Amino acid sequence: MGRTLYAVANWKMNLRADQSAELAGQLADFSKSLNKAQVWIAPAAVNIPAVTYATESSGIKIGSQNVHWDKNGAYTGEISVEMLRHLNCSFAIVGHSERRRLFLESNELTAKRAVGALQQTFKVIFCVGENLSQRKSGETLAVLQAQLDPLLEASREFDTSGLLIAYEPVWAIGTGKVASIGEIEEAHAAIIDYWQNKANALPPPVLYGGSVKPDNVADILSVAEVSGTLVGGASLNFDSFKDIILAHEKLSC
Ligand code: PEP
Repeated sequence: MGRTLYAVANWKMNLRADQSAELAGQLADFSKSLNKAQVWIAPAAVNIPAVTYATESSGIKIGSQNVHWDKNGAYTGEISVEMLRHLNCSFAIVGHSERRRLFLESNELTAKRAVGALQQTFKVIFCVGENLSQRKSGETLAVLQAQLDPLLEASREFDTSGLLIAYEPVWAIGTGKVASIGEIEEAHAAIIDYWQNKANALPPPVLYGGSVKPDNVADILSVAEVSGTLVGGASLNFDSFKDIILAHEKLSC
């Protein structure tokens, strides 16, 4: 069976529209030479039109960094699937640890966002991960399970083929500290086992995120349970994200 690897850029609240379009244009030109790796970009919401325009016909998928579950309504500051689709977006990141930690989004709210989007046949990258004190006290697997539980419960009712999970240890995000290969293997295997046993369904692809860089990406992708990476800081520079994408291309088959 082939292995499709996803290189996903999360640009967070960085780059103006002109800067986003310039970087996206460089990535679009480069991506035309790819055969196997999937390149996805999540720019700041306000820059989505500039980025979709710059990446037209390149095969790169564009998405948002969050999404609301409802189709429309009185939800100040939120974005719907329909609005995103109209701008040629096809996925949303949901439950990023910055949303959970800084904006107090709970496991239940996060699952609600993901369920709403998946039910509208939108792709979702659902982020999970433990913080440092949870890791130190041996709670990692319980935390991952608690984050996944409300999504899994709800997902029995609909098709989850648009779902990807991103394992992002909070202590590795933006810190330069990468989880060890053993820690990645253990967490990814636990997520996959959990899904297979509890949902009784094929597990979604599981990406790794947390200080992914050109010099560590090949090791991370060497773990069989890793289906790609979610990249913050290193995706903001063309050369470093290009090298990360190339590693995905080489190891896809
Ligand atoms: C992220 O924000 O999802 C992330 C993994 O960031 P960084 O690559 O900068 O650690």
